[in-house]
Amino acid sequence: MGEVRNVIIIGSGPAGLTAAIYAARADLVPLLIEGMDSGGQLMTTTTVENFPGFSDGVMGPELMGSIRSQAERFGTEFVQAIVTSVDFSKRPFTVTTDAGEYHARAVVVATGASARLLGLPAERRLMGRGVSTCATCDGFFYRQKPIAVVGGGDSAVEEAIFLTKFASKVTLIHRRHELRASKIMRDKAVANPKIEFRWNTVVEDIRDSGGVVSSLALRDTVTGERSDLAVDGVFVAIGHTPNTSLFAGQLEMDENGYLVTRDGTRTNVPGVFACGDVQDHVYRQAITAAGSGCMAALDAERFVESHVEDAVPAR
Ligand code: NAP
Repeated sequence: MGEVRNVIIIGSGPAGLTAAIYAARADLVPLLIEGMDSGGQLMTTTTVENFPGFSDGVMGPELMGSIRSQAERFGTEFVQAIVTSVDFSKRPFTVTTDAGEYHARAVVVATGASARLLGLPAERRLMGRGVSTCATCDGFFYRQKPIAVVGGGDSAVEEAIFLTKFASKVTLIHRRHELRASKIMRDKAVANPKIEFRWNTVVEDIRDSGGVVSSLALRDTVTGERSDLAVDGVFVAIGHTPNTSLFAGQLEMDENGYLVTRDGTRTNVPGVFACGDVQDHVYRQAITAAGSGCMAALDAERFVESHVEDAVPAR
């Protein structure tokens, strides 16, 4: 076995990078495996107006760049690689990547969750330019504008209701004739005069004018009829997938695949901690992810200190 690190952090969104800042400042010399696309979900966001400390807002990639620099300044070591497997069955833990194998006394999992997308080519191209997967983040930009929400679950209905605070009208587009959302949410949405429903309807294309969303091409799945809906924004709310397949059989997950944490950020494996969206399907904000990243680093630091039997000379 090669060098054994104190802490390996997997993931480079707000949770992983904040864990790195705290672990680095605690002299743990963390190794952060950042994946191929460093920065997580904020890299596809434009202006972030709700992250404390930026009174005029900040661009998502710029925010992630400066959190990364902060982590680097205190001695975080970064590896740009994809984790292909982990072995949490014994300590030190093993994390295998396409760039080599690493060992650590504690691991912080911050692999996040990915918003599910419809799979339309225009969706990625117009992300942050009228296409969004986060109403809390972007709703504010659609004051008095018509927008659409796609999906029929609690997220879609919750987002549609939230967005009525800003938008002139919210069209909820659902592929079936019945919402999946809970009754209480359904009733609220139906009672909201600003929400209009388009049942049995799928989005076939997202159109733009000058690089920003201008309309949706819709198809009625029952009649086959096609129509256009003029909107300034479309919120895709068809669920999230936590990035946890790597940990199957090793870390406890809930029925939707999110990691289960207890007593702060502890997973079922002592020495393995989880933070950010990979264990949070409720709040899902950059600031809450960053906060739980801080907690995970403090938990990992305490674990490393209290397991001196695993100790290796500090680098
Ligand atoms: P979800 O319950 O899985 O619902 C996803 C919705 O998106 C479904 O209506 C589904 O349609 C639709 N959908 C999926 N793939 C699609 C596609 N390719 N094209 C068009 N539509 C598609 O996801 P969620 O709403 O994010 O909720 C996830 C979990 O969090 C749920 O357990 C939910 O109850 C919970 N949650 C709770 C609250 C709350 O209590 N306040 C708020 C948000 C979320 P079908 O219905 O046809 O399958």
